[in-house]
Amino acid sequence: MTLRSGKLSCPSKYFLILIAIFFLGCAVTGPGGRKSLIFIGTDTEVNIGKSMDNSIRKDNRILSDTLWQKYISEIGQKIVSVCDRNDLQYHFAIVDSNIVNAFATPGGYLYFYSGLLRQMDNEAELAAVVAHEISHVVARHGIKRLQATIGVSLAGQIVFGKNPGVLEQVTNIGLGLTFAGYSRANENEADNLGIQYMTKAGYDPKATLTMFKKLALLSKDNPDFFEKLSMSHPDTQERIRRSETLIDSLQPLSSNLHLFHEKYGIMKSRLH
Ligand SMILES: [Zn+2]
Repeated sequence: MTLRSGKLSCPSKYFLILIAIFFLGCAVTGPGGRKSLIFIGTDTEVNIGKSMDNSIRKDNRILSDTLWQKYISEIGQKIVSVCDRNDLQYHFAIVDSNIVNAFATPGGYLYFYSGLLRQMDNEAELAAVVAHEISHVVARHGIKRLQATIGVSLAGQIVFGKNPGVLEQVTNIGLGLTFAGYSRANENEADNLGIQYMTKAGYDPKATLTMFKKLALLSKDNPDFFEKLSMSHPDTQERIRRSETLIDSLQPLSSNLHLFHEKYGIMKSRLH
């Protein structure tokens, strides 16, 4: 994809962009206080996410079941309450589709396909996917990749909001990147954070393993789902091994961790 170079030719505008980078940069990105250069601030990230959400809602059918909407939001908020990023609101939606998938956009917009919900057998398995997607937002994987793709000039234009057409351009690029999938390193980080968050939120993290195993079996027929992540056999096995090691490191686990099997069964029966 070729990007227009933009209209910011005046050196003083570039200077302003550099000043903005200086002030907005170095956002904290999760446990351990690791920092990285983020020059698209949270307000702009949320605007981009909102714009992507509008587009996603136009192109997909959102499940209208209010009980399911409430349920997925409750699961999400439980995990949000223990996660490392609370400078934005998280939004949870269910896409009414047989596709087995879930994804997150920058700015805290998260989507779960009813095809995925049907494959899960307890709330903790779904919480593992929810926690994984929240972790991509916490670690700012989407916005980092977007700013790396659009470059300083376009990012500067969207930060300063001078050109209304730029938001649409950046939205389209963001959507393309979202459906292209993340790097292996990003996936590993989201797996690790997700397991920690779901455990803190009171879910049994071992549900992550049953969830991965289930998706691995399904991927034999369809290797291109769950964020378009390649779920080929060795990769999935590696993810399961890494997750097992992390869960072992969290021992001893609290005896008050749950799967919520029955409650999930009732909700699952509402899906057609
Ligand atoms: Zn992921």
